[in-house]
Amino acid sequence: MTVTTTGCAVDGRRYDVIVVGSGWAGSLVARHLGRQGWQVLVLEAGNGGTETWAGYQDSVDTFSSAVIKVPNAAYRPNAAAPFPDVLDLHPTAEPPGYTATGHFVQTGPLPYGTDYVRALGGAAMHWLGAIPRMHPEDYATRDRYRYGRNWPVTAGEMERHVREAELLIGSAGDATAQWRLGVVPDPDYEYPMEEIPWSHQDWMFQDRLDGRAVRDVVAGEDYTLRVYGLPQGRNSTPNPLFAGGRGYRPRGAVGLPNFGERCVGNSSCTPICPVQAKSSPLRLQQDFTDSVHLATRCVVSRVLPGRGDSVRGVEFREYGDPATPVSTPYTAEADIVVLAAHAIENAVLLLASEMANSSGYVGCHLMDHPTMLAWARMPQGEPVGPFRGPGHTTGLECFRFGAGRGRRAPFRIEIGNWGWGWATGAPFSNVGAMLGLGGDAKGEIKEEGIFGPELRHRLGDEINRQVQLQIAVEQHADPANRVTIDPRGHRDGVGNPRPILHYDLDKQVRDGVFAARKVSQQIFAALGVEKDFTDHGPQGGVAPLGHFRHQVEPGGEVLDLAYHGAGHGAGTHIMGSRPGSSVVDSYQRTHDHPNLFAVGCGSMPSIGTSNPTLTMAALALRSAEKIHRDLAELHQPVTHATEGTR
Ligand SMILES: Cc1cc2nc3c(=O)[nH]c(=O)nc-3n(C[C@H](O)[C@H](O)[C@H](O)COP(=O)(O)OP(=O)(O)OC[C@H]3O[C@@H](n4cnc5c(N)ncnc54)[C@H](O)[C@@H]3O)c2cc1C
Ligand code: SF4
Repeated sequence: MTVTTTGCAVDGRRYDVIVVGSGWAGSLVARHLGRQGWQVLVLEAGNGGTETWAGYQDSVDTFSSAVIKVPNAAYRPNAAAPFPDVLDLHPTAEPPGYTATGHFVQTGPLPYGTDYVRALGGAAMHWLGAIPRMHPEDYATRDRYRYGRNWPVTAGEMERHVREAELLIGSAGDATAQWRLGVVPDPDYEYPMEEIPWSHQDWMFQDRLDGRAVRDVVAGEDYTLRVYGLPQGRNSTPNPLFAGGRGYRPRGAVGLPNFGERCVGNSSCTPICPVQAKSSPLRLQQDFTDSVHLATRCVVSRVLPGRGDSVRGVEFREYGDPATPVSTPYTAEADIVVLAAHAIENAVLLLASEMANSSGYVGCHLMDHPTMLAWARMPQGEPVGPFRGPGHTTGLECFRFGAGRGRRAPFRIEIGNWGWGWATGAPFSNVGAMLGLGGDAKGEIKEEGIFGPELRHRLGDEINRQVQLQIAVEQHADPANRVTIDPRGHRDGVGNPRPILHYDLDKQVRDGVFAARKVSQQIFAALGVEKDFTDHGPQGGVAPLGHFRHQVEPGGEVLDLAYHGAGHGAGTHIMGSRPGSSVVDSYQRTHDHPNLFAVGCGSMPSIGTSNPTLTMAALALRSAEKIHRDLAELHQPVTHATEGTR
C-alpha cells in the first residue's frame, strides 16, 4: 500500500535525499534508495489519489465521460500544477500557422505538439507502454554518422541497467526477435513475460509485407521489410524461462493486486488502462519502504543554494484544492537533491533556480519524435479488425539503422491497431459523420445522416478496414530547439515560470519525414489498399498542425507533410563528459553542483527512434546506484585522529 504524507508535515525537515517528481525516473530512484535505508522525501506536484483503487477508478470514469479522448482526458486540470494538453494548439488560416493557449508559451516557428501530465506517477499515467530498446549505434551517431551527439556511456555499459528496468517496469517481449534485430546482445536473454499476442492485422501485414523490397528515395537505398513484435510494459503471459526458469509474477492493480494481471485488449492504454495491466510507477510506489516519504500536492519552485557549489534543499508550495492555486510555501533540506520533474519542468526548475547552467545549455536541445501519420482503407471483404488490443503490437524496423542514416533522419514504423484514431479521431469521427452531425456551418444535422441497422452496417464495414502507420522520426539534439523562461512575463498560478518553447525541424529531420511518406505509399501499395487517404495539405485554406512543405533537392518533388508530437520530450539538461558543452555527467549529476542531479529524458544526448522511457529508466537506476555510493561515502563514520595515529 502506498502511504502519503503532507508538505506541512515535512516542512523544515532534513532528509538524505529529496526527489522532485514521482514519474518513472523519480519513483525508480526513490525506490532504490529507500531499499538501501536512506531517508527519502518525494515531492510530487500532482493531486494524488490514484494510489488507491477508488481513486484510480475515478480517473477511469473521468476518461469515460470525456467528450474528446486526448491523452490527458483522464486527468482533471490542476490550477496549482498546470500541464500542457494537445488541445492547446489550434491551426490558423491567417496568418498560416497556429496559436497556442495553455501551459506552454510557444514561439515557434513550428508547434511542439506534445504533452505530459502533472499527476502522481507522471506522464506514464497516460503513456502507451511501448518499450523498445535503443540500438547500440543510437548511442554514437556523431562518431558513426556525423550528426547529433554521442553518449558518454555505451550500450554495453547500460545493459545491466536496461535489464533491471525491463524487470521493474514489467516487460513483455520476444527476446530472440529483438536479438535478431540487434538491440538485445545476448541470444539467451528472456523477457519477464511473453510477447503481447499479435493482432489479426499484424499477421496480415506480415503475410503481405515480409520480404518485400521498398525504395527509400532520399537515402537512395532499397530496404527489405520485416514485421517485428514490440516489447511492451504491460502484463502478458508470464515467461516460465525468465530468470533461469524461476519465472515471473505480474504485478496487478493498486489496491486490487489480483486484477489486471493480463492485458485484456480494452484498447484505451493511452490514456488509461481500466484494469491496470499497463505498467505505471504506481506499482513501484507500492514497494516504497517506510523510509520513503511521498508528499503529493507539493509543487517545487526552486532549488536552494548551499555552501560553496553545493545545494541545500528545495522550496515548495503545498496546495489543498487543485481547482485553485492557493498554496502555502515550505522548505525541506537534504544531502542530495534529485530533479525528476520531466525534461521540460526540470529545465524550468534549473533556470528558475539559476543553477547548473555554466555551459549555457540548460533548456537547449529540446527533442521529441516528430510523428508522421499515414492512413488508408483496405478493400471491402478484407477487414483488419482495429480497436482491439494495445495501440500497436508490431512495427517495421529496417529504417532505424544503417547507412541511410547519414542522408536523412532514421524512422521507425508502428503498425497502428487503433484504426484512424490518431489521424481523424476515429471511430467517433466516423459515427459523427455518418449521423450527419455538425455537418454544415450552423452545426445542423445533415439530411443524409444514416441511422439504425444501416449505420451499424456501414460503421462495421468502414471502421473495420482502417489501417494507420505511425512513423516516428529521430530528432537529434539541436541547441536552437529550447526551453526558456521569462519570470516577469509568464508565470503560472502559484507563481512558477511557465516554459517558453522554441521549436523547429531541421533539414535532416524534414528529409526523414519526406522519406517516411514515400515509403508509406509503397507499403500501402504492397498491402493492396483500396485507397491511401493520407492528406497533409491545407483543408479549406487551413493547414493541419505541424504542416510544412518540403523538397529534398532543388527542383525535386515537393510534398505537403505534417507531424504530431509523440510525448517524448528530451535533451533539456543534456549529458556529456565535458562541463563546457553539457549540463549533467554520465550519472546525471550536474557538472556545477556535486549534490544536485537532474534525471529523466532531459539527460539523453540522443533518443534514436525508440520510445525513450526504457532507456531513461535504465539511466535513473544507474544514477540511483551512484547516489547510494555518494551517500555511503558522505556518511562514513568519523574517525578522530589521535596522537601517534594517522
Ligand atoms: C501520450 C504519451 C504517450 C507516451 N507513450 C510512451 C510509450 O509508449 N513509450 C515510452 O517509452 N514513452 C512514452 N511516452 C513518454 C513517457 O511518458 C515519458 O518519457 C516518461 O513518462 C517520463 O518520465 P519522467 O519520470 O522523466 O517524467 P514524468 O513522468 O513527467 O514525471 C515527472 C513528475 O514530476 C512531477 N512534477 C513536475 N513538476 C514538478 C514540480 N515543480 N514539483 C514537484 N513535482 C513536479 C510531475 O507531476 C510528474 O509526476 C509517452 C508520453 C506521452 C505524453
Ligand atoms: S489493451 Fe486494454 S487491457 Fe491492454 S493495456 Fe491497453 S488498455 Fe489495458
